[in-house]
Amino acid sequence: MQTQAAASPNVVIFGGSAAGLWLLDELIRAGHNPLLLEAHELGAGQTVASQGIIHGGLKYTLKGLFTRSAQAIKQMPSLWRQCLDSQRQPALAATKLRSPFVYLWHTESIGSRFGMFGAKSLLTIKPIALTPDQRPTPLTNCKGAVYRLDEPVIDPTTLIADLAARHHDRIIKIDCEHGLTFHTDSPGVVRAIKLKNPDTNQVLELQPITVIFTAGQGNAQLRQMVGLSPQAMQRRPLHMTVARGNLPPFQGHCVDGSKTRVTITSTTDPHGQTLWQIGGQVAEDGVHMTPQELIAHVKLELAATMGSLDLDHVQWATYRVDRAEAATDSGVRPDDIQTMTQGNVITAWPTKLALVPVLAQHIAQQLKPAKQNAPITPTIPDHWPRPAVARPPWETDPQWS
Ligand SMILES: Cc1cc2nc3c(=O)[nH]c(=O)nc-3n(C[C@H](O)[C@H](O)[C@H](O)COP(=O)(O)OP(=O)(O)OC[C@H]3O[C@@H](n4cnc5c(N)ncnc54)[C@H](O)[C@@H]3O)c2cc1C
Repeated sequence: MQTQAAASPNVVIFGGSAAGLWLLDELIRAGHNPLLLEAHELGAGQTVASQGIIHGGLKYTLKGLFTRSAQAIKQMPSLWRQCLDSQRQPALAATKLRSPFVYLWHTESIGSRFGMFGAKSLLTIKPIALTPDQRPTPLTNCKGAVYRLDEPVIDPTTLIADLAARHHDRIIKIDCEHGLTFHTDSPGVVRAIKLKNPDTNQVLELQPITVIFTAGQGNAQLRQMVGLSPQAMQRRPLHMTVARGNLPPFQGHCVDGSKTRVTITSTTDPHGQTLWQIGGQVAEDGVHMTPQELIAHVKLELAATMGSLDLDHVQWATYRVDRAEAATDSGVRPDDIQTMTQGNVITAWPTKLALVPVLAQHIAQQLKPAKQNAPITPTIPDHWPRPAVARPPWETDPQWS
């Protein structure tokens, strides 16, 4: 077995999805020499399964309080818009914008009207009430008020492809089960990382100054491999519904009291049909349901919240996905990005896609400034496997009914 000399990256990032790829770009811009290791496909896990809404915090003020989450997230729509318009780095010219805004609407329930937008005056982006003739087709028959909220919705798969294309030469695929060994001096103090190329058995040894885990739910296993507790992470499961067929493009939340009863985002599937991703409270309720039970429940919820919709000839499927976050005492969503530093290992979760830029900036500020030389690219053997970009769950063999 041949061992390749150290490729000399000063930072090694595990996990090539939204958090890892954005961080890779941020660190290169800060003069570091990072290398990113991906175990599966880029974006696999939460990002390609997500709804892509770049929240500005309104969802977090529904209890009438300006929570820490809302404070952290309120600048995000404008920051992302600048990146999408190539006015700020990373320039995301190839990331598809599904919509520049979302709709918000009430049902007629008292709880729904009461409490909505309690602390909206503190938000940067505020809901704009629509007149009946400004309503989108799916909400024409809705009995409550309808608003527009200028939170962009992006297509997460194109985001991943866009970010990955910027630094293709710094992203490699690894085999975590059989081709990864950490050499540690003590828990969380990594002296070397050895990678084995599954095709050639060639070994690559890396001796980074800092190791960063941005592997979503993979962080638990990686932490265990370097002697740290996997209990630092929690998973919160979701059971999402997708509908495709003769549906209008639509992005929005039905707000009922402090909950979003349904959240709908839409895209075009590979056959040119409109596809709705349906999440929100129904995806939480659906965790203990079968796909058939959930689809029946979602149809009732759509009828209750949107009025009569033509759902004839619509096909339905579901997929399950876990949100991976830093553990909280009560098991609820953390308020903000989460990072933990132990030894020379940083474990990170963005908590929301929208907060990925904040996470990257936060980690970059935590690292020692890089030497001011032009960054060199780590030397990776040409034939080392490179990861592909993951496809969204509805394109990977769902059971349509
Ligand atoms: C259904 C759903 C809808 C959502 N909607 C929104 C939304 O509308 N707006 C919003 O702001 N947030 C949303 N979120 C949250 C958001 O998707 C996540 O916070 C974010 O995508 C997490 O990105 P990540 O890069 O940390 O992790 P992930 O996207 O989970 O990626 C982890 C990466 O690490 C890789 N990996 C795993 N194990 C290893 C290993 N051992 N070594 C190397 N690599 C490894 C994986 O293959 C993957 O590429 C949603 C989440 C879900 C589940």
